Amino acid sequence: MDLFWKKSQWKGNQEATECDRQLAALSEKLQQAYLNIGRIYAANNPAQQAQGTPYEEDIAEIEKVTQDMEYWEKRKLALQGLRKCEKCGNILTADSVFCNQCGEKMPPLFESVADGQPVCSKCGAPYDEDAVFCIHCGSKLH
Ligand SMILES: [Zn+2]
Ligand SMILES: [Zn+2]
Repeated sequence: MDLFWKKSQWKGNQEATECDRQLAALSEKLQQAYLNIGRIYAANNPAQQAQGTPYEEDIAEIEKVTQDMEYWEKRKLALQGLRKCEKCGNILTADSVFCNQCGEKMPPLFESVADGQPVCSKCGAPYDEDAVFCIHCGSKLH
């Protein structure tokens, strides 16, 4: 009797684990499906078109985060002395004037101001107004 109870409890536990596993897998699929809908919607509805819809804030957030990611990817490359051609995606040395793949003229790597703060045009690090050299890459700032 005791043994039977233990066995059935063990089986019950095993089934409960299986239920949890199924639920977790299905929940994951559901999240993926929602994500796909969101991605398709976002791709077809840039911020301007999303204005006035319930998605307005989220689309604006996606665009801001995408820009921030581009900035940090640029900074990461700049740390290695590299940059990416915006036109063809080729990776070049940071001091390149033209892309050696598509011939595009390279604009300054970083805007001189980001989020209202002046940034080093070589490495993108923010600096204080009165700084003369960038404390990250040593470039002269003015
Ligand atoms: Zn290029
Ligand atoms: Zn710098």
